[in-house]
Amino acid sequence: MQTVSSLLDSAWHERYRRISRLNIRSSIYDVTNRCNLRCKGCFFFSSGEHEAAADEEDIRQWESFIDREKARGVNMAILIGGEPTLFLDRVEAFYRRLPTYCATNGLIRVSRDRFPGMLVGISLWGDEDDEKALRGRDVFSVSRKNYEGDDHTYYLYTITPKQIGRTEKIIRKIADAGLKVHMQLLTNDEQVEGFHWTPEALRDVRAEMDAMLESYPRTVISCRYYHEIICTGMMMGRPFGWNECPSVTETMDDRDPRPKRLIRFIRWAADLKTTHRCCTSATRDCSICKDGAAHMSWVMVNKREHMRTTGDLQNWIEVYEMFAKLYGFIPW
Ligand code: SF4
Ligand code: SF4
Repeated sequence: MQTVSSLLDSAWHERYRRISRLNIRSSIYDVTNRCNLRCKGCFFFSSGEHEAAADEEDIRQWESFIDREKARGVNMAILIGGEPTLFLDRVEAFYRRLPTYCATNGLIRVSRDRFPGMLVGISLWGDEDDEKALRGRDVFSVSRKNYEGDDHTYYLYTITPKQIGRTEKIIRKIADAGLKVHMQLLTNDEQVEGFHWTPEALRDVRAEMDAMLESYPRTVISCRYYHEIICTGMMMGRPFGWNECPSVTETMDDRDPRPKRLIRFIRWAADLKTTHRCCTSATRDCSICKDGAAHMSWVMVNKREHMRTTGDLQNWIEVYEMFAKLYGFIPW
C-alpha cells in the first residue's frame, strides 16, 4: 500500500494537508416549496418533492431546528428549494448560525449588507434561447445584472446537449461580469425532447469542459478529473449509481453493503421533519443521474482507491479542492 508521503512531493503534500484539515459535514435544506419560476426539468417539481411536506412558517421553529443541526455536527448548510430568496428570514436564520451556501435562480438580489459573506450559487441553464425554452424567460440577463462583480457568487451552469459548441459565449460573459462558474450536466428527468445525452455528446462535452477550463482558468472552478468522472460516469472501473452514490440521506440509507458515503448527510424538506432520499430528485433513475455534487462527493469519499499512483492522488486532491472552493472552505 502506498502512503501519501511516498506519492506526493512537498508542494502537493501541502495541498493535501490543507484539505485534510477541513472535515466537511454538509447537509441540504429545502428552504421553501415555492419558486418564482417553473423550469422544465427541475428535479424538485418534476419529482413532486414540493408536495412532500408543507413549509414550516414559524421562524422560531427554523431557528431551533438549525441549532439542532449544528449540534448534530453540520458545518455547511446548503440551501435549496424552491427558491430560497423568497424567504430571506429563513436564509438569515441559517446564515447567523452556520457557514451557508444559498442556491438561487438569481432573479432576486441578496443584499450584501444583510448577507456579506454568504456564498451564492446561481443556476444557469444555457444562453438566452435555452433559458427561454427551458425556464420561460431569459434569467441570465437578470441574474448577471444583479450580481455583477460579486466575489462571493458563482454560476452553477447546467450544460445541456444542445449547448455543445456554445458554452464559450456564456462563459466569456460570466468572466466579463467578474463572476465565476462551475459546470455540471443536465439530467433529463422530464424527458424533454432533444435534451438526452448520447455517448458521442458526452465525449464532446467533456472535451469542451476541458477546453473552457484551459481558456478561462480564473473563471471556471473545475478540474479535468471531475469532467472525466461526470461525463463517463465511471471511477476506477466502477459505474456511478445507487450502489455507489455517497449523497443519500443517512437516516434513509438501507443499502447493504453500504458504500462509502457522506457522514451525517441529510436532505431536509421545508417542514423540517420530512427527509428526501438524496441530494437531488427522489424519483430519478440513478443510472442516468448527472448530479455534479454527488459525483464530486463520490470521488472525495473514495480516497483509498486513489492511493494507487501519484496521478490518481493528485486527481483526488483537485476534486476535493474544487468542492472546498465551491462551498467556501478555501479561497478560489
Ligand atoms: S428556479 Fe430552480 S427551483 Fe425554481 S423551477 Fe427552476 S430549477 Fe426549480
Ligand atoms: S438520483 Fe443521483 S444523487 Fe440521488 S441517489 Fe440516485 S445517484 Fe444519488
